[in-house]
Amino acid sequence: VKGANAVYFNGSTALRRPVRADLDAQGIAFLDQGLEPVRWRLEDLRCVDSPAGTLRLAAAGAPDLARLEIGEAQLIEAILQRVPALGRRRRADEGALGRIVFWSLAAVASLVLTAAYLVPLVADRLAPLIPVPLERRLGEAVGQQVRTLFGARTCVEEPGRVVLGRLTERLAAAADLPMPVRVEVLTSGVPNALTLPGGNVYVFRALLDKAHTPDEFAGVLAHELGHVAGRDALRKLLQTAGTSFLLGLLFGDVTGGGAIIFVAQSLVDSRYSRQAESAADAFAARLMLLSGRSTKPLAAFLARLDANSSERFAFINSHPVTVERMRALEAADRPAAGPPLLDDADWRALKAICDRTE
Ligand SMILES: [Zn+2]
Repeated sequence: VKGANAVYFNGSTALRRPVRADLDAQGIAFLDQGLEPVRWRLEDLRCVDSPAGTLRLAAAGAPDLARLEIGEAQLIEAILQRVPALGRRRRADEGALGRIVFWSLAAVASLVLTAAYLVPLVADRLAPLIPVPLERRLGEAVGQQVRTLFGARTCVEEPGRVVLGRLTERLAAAADLPMPVRVEVLTSGVPNALTLPGGNVYVFRALLDKAHTPDEFAGVLAHELGHVAGRDALRKLLQTAGTSFLLGLLFGDVTGGGAIIFVAQSLVDSRYSRQAESAADAFAARLMLLSGRSTKPLAAFLARLDANSSERFAFINSHPVTVERMRALEAADRPAAGPPLLDDADWRALKAICDRTE
């Protein structure tokens, strides 16, 4: 073979030097930079890690890092014919490359599996061990982000705020909660309610607007208190944080600076597990019954929201309604045995809580 195109690296600089190489019975010869003759004997040739489709040669006696890279199939074939040992070495390299690719993929797969299966498991085990003050601090940090996310303000019209405080206290008194709760109504047109780590519950104005009776509203509130009781928001936060940490390992620290935003976003976006939803419903049903009220209004409210809502951030999306949930609420129901939770004047005051915001 004469005048085949190849690329020469002389071993002292990283420059690529295009050369024309000749192969004969003794070896391979070419002119470095068209000037200096280089001749490698066949018996001195070694194959070094070659990308697919090329043959990369080194030679005993040549500078350590000197390489000749050959892409022309005709020349590669001719060299391998004369020095079959090179071909065996080359296949071994390809095998090694295959193994590297395999293990890299396996590493990625194991991280993905860890993110999908182990992180939730660890988050579940970890949540009860997190001290409540730490949970509250985490909640504060993401709370600010959640408000920013929804561009929301807090509704503070005084009579409504008093009523909301009283209703919250009454429900919480009947519940056995791991921490004090604070409920706020936020000015958002998204019909949702959200429990953050640390016992902060946000009810969005649109959800309050859609509630027809105090019992419907109280039912949703009681459901959110169920998430407080289960420390579900903390669990979700740990899960998200763990997953984003693993994804950070995989893709470089993509979430590093924005970690808190990412966590807040996914607290809003992602759903609780079915078990968490059922437990929160059961908790709500118990609270309503303990307060002398029926569970039917909550079920009716959920059904109405489910029928009318397609918004991404809506209550129904983060707390998906299932047939089992509705059945369980129906099954838990007893007729109301006590007085209404709020009288008409209280209810009107609560509905008007967003007349003043800050
Ligand atoms: Zn829920």
